[in-house]
Amino acid sequence: MDISLSQIKGIGPARLKAFEAAGIRTVRELTMFLPKEYRDLTATVPLAGLQPGDTAAVRVRVAGEPTERRAKRLLITKVYVTDDTDTIQVVWYNRPWLKKQLPPGRELLLYGKVEHKQGYISLVSPTVEQGEGLVPVYRSIAGIPPKALRQSVEVALKLCEGQWPDELPESLRRRYGLCERNFAMRNAHFPDSREALEAARRRIAFEELLLYQIALRLFRSTGREGVRIDFDDDAVDAFWQRLPFAPTNAQRRVLSEVAADLRAPKAMARMVQGDVGSGKTAIAFAAIALAYAGGWQSALMAPTEVLARQHYEAAAKLLAPLGIRVGLLVGSLTQKQHRLAHEAIANGEWDLAIGTHALITEGVEYRNLGLVVTDEQHRFGVRQRTMLSEKGDAPNVLVMSATPIPRTLSLILYGDLDISIVDELPPGRTPVATRIVPEAKRSDMYGFLRKEVAKGRQVYFVCPLVEESEAVEALPAEAVYEDLRTNRLPELRIELVHGRMKPADKDAALERFRTGEADVLVSTTVIEVGVNVPNATVMVIENAERFGLAQLHQLRGRVGRGTEASWCFLMAEPNQRLRFLASTTDGFKIAQKDMELRGPGELFGTRQSGALSAGLGSLAGDAELLKLTHDEARTLMADPDDSEAKAVIDLAKDRFADRLRDVAVN
Ligand code: ADP
Ligand code: MG
Repeated sequence: MDISLSQIKGIGPARLKAFEAAGIRTVRELTMFLPKEYRDLTATVPLAGLQPGDTAAVRVRVAGEPTERRAKRLLITKVYVTDDTDTIQVVWYNRPWLKKQLPPGRELLLYGKVEHKQGYISLVSPTVEQGEGLVPVYRSIAGIPPKALRQSVEVALKLCEGQWPDELPESLRRRYGLCERNFAMRNAHFPDSREALEAARRRIAFEELLLYQIALRLFRSTGREGVRIDFDDDAVDAFWQRLPFAPTNAQRRVLSEVAADLRAPKAMARMVQGDVGSGKTAIAFAAIALAYAGGWQSALMAPTEVLARQHYEAAAKLLAPLGIRVGLLVGSLTQKQHRLAHEAIANGEWDLAIGTHALITEGVEYRNLGLVVTDEQHRFGVRQRTMLSEKGDAPNVLVMSATPIPRTLSLILYGDLDISIVDELPPGRTPVATRIVPEAKRSDMYGFLRKEVAKGRQVYFVCPLVEESEAVEALPAEAVYEDLRTNRLPELRIELVHGRMKPADKDAALERFRTGEADVLVSTTVIEVGVNVPNATVMVIENAERFGLAQLHQLRGRVGRGTEASWCFLMAEPNQRLRFLASTTDGFKIAQKDMELRGPGELFGTRQSGALSAGLGSLAGDAELLKLTHDEARTLMADPDDSEAKAVIDLAKDRFADRLRDVAVN
């Protein structure tokens, strides 16, 4: 099984390189490259039954001559197809060889996405299928055509047939009704049936999730004693009293959890989750004030300089009056400023160092670091945490995240963190009214925007990023900008920002919007618009159906920052998903729904892609499996000398020791 891929027929030096670049060198590794999904060709749908948004297999006949047309760098191929129930259009982009394969009358089995285009149902970029049953779809590897990839996996599987040792103890396997490993591997790639696939998925996911969680726990238990911070009981109240507002109940509750952690002998490892605007900064500042009261230094780390500076300004206002000496350390400082900052941190002149990654990567020596706070999507790895803790006792770590994650999932993602949730917004916010706007209502919406701008308000337009191959009908930011400027809202001042602009131009455009010199800002989502513009009361999201619910929710969090009523317009045909978003402003409910609808795979994949094997759609496919493995991991770790536990723990060490070291935990 550990033989090189070069043994497989059809894999020459070029493909060998391509596989290697994807981290696949041996036959075994190739078989571990699991499909990301399966095309279900077992059930074809009559054309009359297609719904926009579906992904479906259809059995059709080519109904006329295919046409080809060029639009910029795109070649668009269109053809009408028919079955007994209806006739629809099929569209492909940049597939020059296809036209020849579509003579009228030809029978085709197509599989692809159903969309609504100019009022008609179309199938967009479907695959032309030869096989049948459940066909595996793999994540693409540059330099290897999908068909060749599938064939290589098939050969690799044959070479490994019957050779997979079953490493999970038999007793455990029986307890959970898990199928045998060889069966699982074969059916994960080329399922005999839905049921066989489900059994395979369950077996592989169970093993992976169980071992992963055990590995996380191993890490945690090897952590050293933590810094213990003592402070007077009234320190907490004293801090709240200094704030210009009364804390919410959620803020109070979370801070008391944090305070208890700080006092405990074990190092705190806690994540605070809460929607944008829920007031996490105040909690972080309170924790810093407690550390200060106990005589300890703190560090506050933000993902960008802009955010670090914002925190610095806020801390100067709120914390400095308490006697806390605050300093800023970011990459753009001069060499001399860097040196002075390092000195101030080392000799304890600064009680709080605020900054970017520079705080831990520049070999800064702290005098007595007791608390580290990381803010917003900041990737703070297990390794970095160990790095910090190597300098004395482990400091307490507080992680702030605005990405709500369902409880079940956070058990896995952040298995080594305790979690607190700020589930309440400060009073006086006007919730964003969310409306779904179908194409037919578009001009009405522009009328509304004009009125808002006339009242002195500002408007965001957000456009999805689109891949070139599918670019045509989706509206990229530049096209929207042109359309607004020349057709829709020519009288307004409009700015455009996107990822490919020069940073200076981007900043200038953002600045004009922030200062009110522009009425409308058109942007893609690549730019994390860190601008806080309370005067912006409307957000229009183009092609809203392309975004995940959680992302839409994050986006609309940018309006509704002031006291004025605010709106979010989702440009899309209404569907159940978008209606749900319009009906609630609860980030956790939305995250939960997102997970139910799309599976946790996406959330999961982007976060921990370094640690867990990719593929199988969503390994963490169901909440039940998450819970089972979570509980089993705990049981096994409670009695690590038991022979079954020993076997599983060794396996976990083996499988994850290297992978976990570099994984970010938030
Ligand atoms: P986030 O959780 O997104 O980091 P912030 O901490 O930035 O939120 O808080 C958002 C805004 O709400 C800030 O302007 C802050 O001053 C304000 N704020 C925080 N807590 C309260 C509160 N309890 N009452 C009123 N305003 C608050
Ligand atoms: Mg914040």
